[in-house]
This record gives sequence, C-alpha cells and structure tokens, in this order.
Amino acid sequence: MDNFYLESISQILKKLHTSSDGLVDEQIKQNQKNFGKNILPKARENTTRLSIFLSQFASPLIIILIIAGIISLVLQETMDTIVIFVTVFVNSVVGFLQEDKANQALKKLSQMVEYKVLVIRKGKTYQIDSKDLVVGDIILFEAGEKIQADARIMESVDLKLDESALTGESESIKKNNKKIKKTLAIADRNNMIYRGTTVVSGRGRAVVVAVGKDTEIGKIASLVKSTKDDRTPLQIQLTKLARIISAVVLFICVIIFVTGLFFDGGLDHWAELFETAVAVAVAAIPEGMAISLTVILAIGMQFILKRRALVRKLVATETLGSVSVICTDKTGTLTEGKMRLTQIFTASQDLDFEEIKLVNQSRKEKYIDSLLALKIAIIANDGIHENPEASEKDWNFVGDTTDTAILYAGMKAGLGKDILEKSFVRLDEIPFDSKKKYMATLNSLPHGQELYLKGASEKIYKMCGFYEENGEQKKMTKKQLEFFKNQENEMTQKGLRVIAVAYKNYTNKNKKSINSKDLKNLTFIGFLAFSDPLRPDVKETLEIASKAGIRTVMITGDHVRTAQAIASDIGIPCKDSQIFDGEKLEAINDEDLRLQIKNIYVFARVEPKHKIRIVNAFQANGEVVAMTGDGVNDAPALKGADIGVALGSGTDVAKEISDMVLLDDKYSTIVSAVEEGRGIYQNIKKIILYLLAGSFSEVILILGSIVAGLPLAALPAQILWVNLIEDTFPNIALAFDKGEKENMLDKPRVRNESIIDNEMRLMIIMKSILANVVLFGIFYYFWKTTGDIKLTRTLVFTGFAIDSLFFIFSIRSLRHMIWHTHPLENKKLLGAVGFGWVMLVLAIYLPPLQALLRTVALSWHHWLIMISFGLFNIVIIETIKVIFLVENRRAVSYKH
Ligand code: ADP
Ligand code: MG
Repeated sequence: MDNFYLESISQILKKLHTSSDGLVDEQIKQNQKNFGKNILPKARENTTRLSIFLSQFASPLIIILIIAGIISLVLQETMDTIVIFVTVFVNSVVGFLQEDKANQALKKLSQMVEYKVLVIRKGKTYQIDSKDLVVGDIILFEAGEKIQADARIMESVDLKLDESALTGESESIKKNNKKIKKTLAIADRNNMIYRGTTVVSGRGRAVVVAVGKDTEIGKIASLVKSTKDDRTPLQIQLTKLARIISAVVLFICVIIFVTGLFFDGGLDHWAELFETAVAVAVAAIPEGMAISLTVILAIGMQFILKRRALVRKLVATETLGSVSVICTDKTGTLTEGKMRLTQIFTASQDLDFEEIKLVNQSRKEKYIDSLLALKIAIIANDGIHENPEASEKDWNFVGDTTDTAILYAGMKAGLGKDILEKSFVRLDEIPFDSKKKYMATLNSLPHGQELYLKGASEKIYKMCGFYEENGEQKKMTKKQLEFFKNQENEMTQKGLRVIAVAYKNYTNKNKKSINSKDLKNLTFIGFLAFSDPLRPDVKETLEIASKAGIRTVMITGDHVRTAQAIASDIGIPCKDSQIFDGEKLEAINDEDLRLQIKNIYVFARVEPKHKIRIVNAFQANGEVVAMTGDGVNDAPALKGADIGVALGSGTDVAKEISDMVLLDDKYSTIVSAVEEGRGIYQNIKKIILYLLAGSFSEVILILGSIVAGLPLAALPAQILWVNLIEDTFPNIALAFDKGEKENMLDKPRVRNESIIDNEMRLMIIMKSILANVVLFGIFYYFWKTTGDIKLTRTLVFTGFAIDSLFFIFSIRSLRHMIWHTHPLENKKLLGAVGFGWVMLVLAIYLPPLQALLRTVALSWHHWLIMISFGLFNIVIIETIKVIFLVENRRAVSYKH
C-alpha cells in the first residue's frame, strides 16, 4: 500500500490519474476496475442463525423436557416419548423463528441508513451514493459528515475529526493539508482522513486514495458487528416476572410429584408423575414472554417504519409510548423547509420576488443596493447548484435551504454562482454554524479583496460602522440603525426568516485570510427575507398531540419574532412570557430553568448547546422527552433525550447517535411514531394478559386432582399438546392488532410503571380461580357419574384448549366490550386460532392422535358443555372490563 500521507498532492493526483477538477467518465470506470467498488467486506456477525437455533436448547425448561423424554424412552412409553420430543422440536423451532424474525428485522433497519457524498467530477460538484465513490475522486466534506473513504486532504478550513471509531482516540484531531516527511502511525497522519471517522467541525476537500476493503477500517476484517441491543426496561421487568412465576410453578410441580408419590400406588407411577410435573411446568412457565416481547418490539419497529420513522434502538419502540414532551425544530420539521427568498430590503429599496428578478437588468443604478445585497448573499454562500445549465424544472440544489434559496433567486435574476465565483475567487472563509449564526468569505477581485458577510441581523449590526444608500457609503447613525431595526421587526413579525448582509473592502492590501477579528467597520447593505410555509398537517397534529397529553415545544435558531409568528400560526402558546431566547437561557441557572420551563413553549435564537439544558430541565420535572436535531452540535441533546430524533436530512453524526430517524423530517411523523408506540405497548399488555391468564389452569387442575385423591385430571401428553395450541401462535398474532383510536386520548404512560395494572391483575386472578373451579367441577362430575377416565380427561383436555381460543377475542381490547371490536380485522389472529381448533379437533377425532393422546371422540352435548365453558371465560373477562370502565368513568367525572 502506498503511503499517500508522505506524498505531495500533485504526485498523488498524477498517480491516480485525476486532477483537482476530479475524474472524467472513462477514468471513473478505469479506477473502479483497478481499485474496486467502495463496499466494505461483510462484517462477521456474532448472532448467526445456527447460534440462535442452538441457543433454544439452552433453556432450562427444554433441558428438563429432554430428560423427561429420555426417561419415558427408557421405560418404553413410546407414545409419551413421541409427544415430548415433538414438543421439544416445535418449541425450539417456534422460538428460533421468532428470534430470527426479530433479528432479521433489526438488521434490515440498521442497513437502511444511507450515506451520500459530494464529489467533484469533470469540474462540477455532484452528490453521489457512497458506494459509487472511486479512488481518485475529489470529495468535499463538512461538519457532521461520516467519511466514506480514505483520502488525502487537499484543502481544509477549521477541520477537526473524531477518529475514535478507528483509533480509539476520543479527543478530536485537527487536520490540515501539509505534507508529512517521516513515517507516522495512522493516528498521527494529520493530512489524511479515514473512512468511518466523522467531521466534528469545519470543512475540507480531499482526494480519495483507498475505497472499500482497502481502507484502513476495511482492513480490520475481523470487525465484529454487534447486533445485540441492550435489554430494554420492559424486557428486564418481564424477565424478573417470569423468574418469579417459574420459581412458584416449579415449587408446585415438586409438590405435585412428591404428593403424588404418597398416594395409593404412587410409587409405581413415579415416571408418569414426573412427566406430569414436567408437563405442568412447561405449560405454566411463561418462558416465551421475554422473547415474544423482543418479537413484538421488532414487529412494532416495522409498523413505525411504515409511518416513515426509522427506529434505530429497540428500546425506543418501548419508550415512544410514554413520551410527554416533544421538542421539535421549527425549520424543516414544523415548516416545509422549502425556503424562498421573498423580499430584499435596503436603505433605498424594498423589493418583492418579482422585482428581485430584475435587479441584474440594464438600468443597474436603479437597483444598485439590492443587486449588491443579492451578490453578497450568493458569494458568501455554501450552497451548490449542481446543474445551472439545465432548464429550470430540473435544477438541482444541494446544501443549506437558506443558501440554496438564495442561489435559486440568483438564477432567476441571471446571477449564477458558478459564474460569479470566477470573478470573485474565494480566498478564505468563516463557515456558518448555528452557534455563530453568520458566515463570511474573503474574495479576491481585480481591485483588491472584499469580505462578504451574511447572518443573523443582531450579530451583523454590531459589526457595521457604515451603510450604503444608492451605492454611496454613509456613516451608520442611531437613527438609521433604528430604521433598519424597525424594518426587520416588520418582516420577522410576518414569520419571515431574515438575514442581514454586509461587506468591507481591502483596497490594495494583501489580505489572504480572515477571522472573527476582521468583522468590524463593515458596511451594512440590507436584509433578505425568506418565507418557509408551514407543513399542512402541523396544526392538526399538534391538536392530536395535545389531546394525548403531549406538549409540543418549538426550538429554533431563528429570531424570536419569527418564531412567535409561526408558533401563533400553528397554535403553539406564544405570549411573550411563554418564549425564551438564547440570552435568557444563558442568564438563568438550571434550577430556575426547571421551574420556569413548565410555562415555556418556544425557544428562539438558541444555540445547539442549549438543547441539552432544555432536555435536562424537562427531565428533571419527570417528563419523557423526544428531541429533534440534525447537526453535529445536536449530538449531546439527541443522546440525552429519552428519544433522540434525527432528521432524515440531517448529518450522519446526528443519525448515528439518534434513537429514531424521521425519514421525511416531519413533526407529524414523531406523533405517528408515538401513536404506534402506544399501540405496541397495549399489545404487549394483551399478550402478557393472555399468557398469564391461561397459564395456571393445568397447575390448578392437576394439583387439585392429586390433593383430592382423584386420578390425574390430564395426562402429560395432553398437557403438552394443549401448550402447542395455546402458546405458539396466538400470542404473537396479538402483536398485529391495530392500535385503538382512544390510545391518543390518554395521558402518556408513566415510565417504568408496572406493565400489569390492576385490571389485568384482577382478570388473571378471577379467570384462574373461577374458570378452573368450573372446569374442576366438570372433571369431578364426569368422573363420578361415568367412571370413564378417558372421556373425563378428554373433556378436561378440551377445556384447557378451548378457554384460550375463546377469551383471546375478549382481551383484544381492554377498553371496549368484545362486541365493539372488529373480530375479523386481525387475520393473523384468526389463522392462529383456526390452527388451534384444527389441532384440537384432530386430537379428539383422528385415530392415531387418539392413540397418542389417549382421547376419545366427544358427542354434541359434550361440545355444548365445553363451548359454554369457553363462553364463560369471556363472561369473566368482560365483567371485569365493565367494572373498570365504570370505575374509570367515575374517576374522570370526579375530576370535572
Ligand atoms: P433553525 O433552528 O431554524 O434551523 P438556524 O440555526 O439554521 O435556525 O439559523 C439561525 C439563524 O442563523 C437564522 O435565523 C439566520 O439569521 C442565520 N442563518 C441561517 N442560515 C444561514 C446561512 N446559510 N447563512 C447565514 N446565516 C444563516
Ligand atoms: Mg437550520
């Protein structure tokens, strides 16, 4: 491998058959052929399908089952052996399929983040997919970007990189384009940038020297990709719960086994007793609960993705449902982010868009000030117009929306940036950032150098000692400044974004570079005002959010009046007392901020660093905060927020750190994601209710029959068969229930509250007691009256299976009575329940299965009894619903 950092730029360009104008078409193909595509070798994964499958057998329950299977094999109980091993097999396959599905879904999501790169080819700038990058390409990059290839820096401005992904060094590294003379380790090669590292500040230009597997990061072939997320709070909660239940059930199973031994002939039946105890344990222990949760969360991520939000961390799916404050950017999220220059205001003129198009026309004296204002804005501008030669409808702009709006207006006035740039060559610049809120460039002209400045007006005023009127420079007086400020006020009050422009010239001075100290004694020219229409669905969505108890807070770097006007259009509270600006934030301490923030709905003229304080203040009040962001400087806030939301149009850094990416940048997408999150949480509750309410039947009946000195109420094979019917498909099918409309009328859920509420607890207890007393009654009655144990057990077996197949429809909604739900809506559930019925009927009527499970055919009056029993289960659940519905209604009416 060549050591490009030791070579000069011209040597490298020559070697790679490129130039500072970039590659030409044939060479792109050639270099791609010679050096390969920019694709990294697939990282090895630590969870392969095989390892997932094998891990299924590591569960204690499966191991006990296998032991029971071996015992029955030794005792030559062939039928039982078959059923036990079928159970082992089905359980592990279903477990595998679920886990695999979750895993695949997560993987797909992680692959959805795409990277784009700006390249110079044939002297023009293009935006391309990172995989199309080739050796020899000239790339442009700026703060927030993730570098996509190894490259030698040709030009840099304030450039700093975070190379921790490659070198482990957490401090950011200053970079430049200077040649290095001695061999150095990667971490010290300051004239190189490497794939996988991120730009912390500044911008630069570099020539690509290695792509794909030849990059430094690509060479670390053993790179293990970790797909395992940390466990979510709910997963932890459920694992704990499952552990407690398991302990209790195991204890009861030991009692079943031991007590059974003491009864008549118990010792002769020890193997059967052991198998029964194992079967009961398998049926009652909710071992699949934690993994079902992962599956549901993963399925939920896909639902959320359909609403155009990409969840990047599993835990976010869970947290979304409890979000109580949404802090959202204004520009691009509440508004369309489609800026349009609508007004240029100078000391001499006030032009609307139609007139702006004329500023470059023949009678230049008339528009002299406005023309200068527009030119400054075009030159001190980092936007890119990819194809100025194309016809207007095909124009393609890349970059900041304010900047590109200026370029567009310039094109309409016949002032292309590409042409202006040739006569105003950029010597140096101070790039824009949301903290400084301005940008400046130094340009070389035939008669000297000129500094051009555009940015937030209150910053610019302070830098100006003069203003221009009709091309004539005058001293800035108090009165004139007042005049400008009044005008600014008028424009911001309309909700327009206003930036000011100014300049300064250095005649015959050999000025080569600028810094903030040069920004004084400038000449003020005027304002450019931009409109940015509200997104059409914002008002409506804000209402939905507020009905859902979620507070929406607007955050913007824009002027207070601009923010106020827009907030008032949307319906966000925005009296003067409800707005904070950056200065006020600086002046106040964290505790006061915490107290006052309850009454604040708009933060204007803030810097990105303020966002984290806003997040912390809300969190200190117990709120669960979603915060949007797009830039590098937003990273701390995105990380600190409960849900860090990156804009799809934002920087790579923001996206990587975020919990969720808004593919369409829209505020309403956040609210949709919250809605999905609430629905997912509801579904998780239902599944837990389903699993737990059905769990204890076998325990109670078997223990009951042993204690009462009766024959076993069911045989191990029957219990395992029922478990297949109940626990494999229906629970997951519940995850596909659509969220209820009313979910968005509730208050946000209190985070970390127990997922099993009082209503569920009562349902589980009452269902377990009442239904099983009745089933035990059926058992006792038939045993005593018929003495036919086969028939009696078949009825109990049917009872075990049928209850779940009925009451699952009842728990599809905990808010509405069963007859108000749409029974056919969830097709997957119908399939799962249908499957259950088939398995049940086959078990009772198909001769080989009859032999295997020792069942007998039932007659219609038996069915009548069993179906009534199924309905009875529904009655229990519905009755409890009514109690709680009445209770809740009363609670609500007390409040009024
Ligand atoms: P927002 O939070 O609304 O995106 P920004 O941080 O982008 O706000 O902008 C804050 C202020 O900085 C704007 O009100 C404007 O005065 C100024 N500004 C924004 N973009 C530019 C730019 N491209 N060039 C110069 N100044 C800008
Ligand atoms: Mg912005």
